[in-house]
Amino acid sequence: MNKNYILGFVFAVALIFFIFSALSYDPSANNDDSVYVFSPLEKLLKGDYNGTSDYSDVMLHGDTGLGTFDRLNGEMVAVDGEYYQVFYNGTVGEVSGSQTASFAEVKEFSPDIAFALESPVNYSGMKELLKGEFESDSGLSVVYAVRLDGYFREVKTRSVKEQSEPYRPLEDVLSTGDQAFFERTGVKGTAVGYYHPSYMKDLTSEGFHLHFISDDRKFGGHLVEFNMDSGVISADRTEKVVLRTAKE
Ligand SMILES: [Zn+2]
Repeated sequence: MNKNYILGFVFAVALIFFIFSALSYDPSANNDDSVYVFSPLEKLLKGDYNGTSDYSDVMLHGDTGLGTFDRLNGEMVAVDGEYYQVFYNGTVGEVSGSQTASFAEVKEFSPDIAFALESPVNYSGMKELLKGEFESDSGLSVVYAVRLDGYFREVKTRSVKEQSEPYRPLEDVLSTGDQAFFERTGVKGTAVGYYHPSYMKDLTSEGFHLHFISDDRKFGGHLVEFNMDSGVISADRTEKVVLRTAKE
């Protein structure tokens, strides 16, 4: 075999590898199992409620999640790619891509853990149940997206009032009556959200954070307390968190 032939052969093999590796890279695919956080929650806590991420962009990065809006105008909950806004007066609307988020956290939900609920649980019971599952899966230092589907004997949610400048820190907003609580009994619905390790507390919430939407899409909000009688609990583990910094 002459030298030129060998070089040519090596070049051809390298070219084939290059073409195949190029074909397998798809920059348009967002479903890489990452959680996308649109600007740190710390921004909200300090009282910056200006929407900085377009919902058209947020929607590209996940079918499941939670968040809020420009000027803190209600609670966002996303289930199966449907995005909803739960207003301070308790009504529910669909989110349009032209709206903006002052905070949002979304993911393509593909469960690694799923089980049917064997006996009724409240919020703290659900947390213990899931922490046990996480400990025997990957431990408590990774992020899990969480989803509960079923029959809720009682659900208590809240939403927040749209703010105007000058903004006050979130703690002041919540403690001075700019939040409304809602309660329902006998609701079929879905709660979605996250479990975050404590080291993520400046980036997003610590521990569990869930938002709720009823099957009839008429009731929802930030989940405060519940009693769930039956249904399915699922969780989607990820080691990857993408932080999108706010645009000015
Ligand atoms: Zn919330």
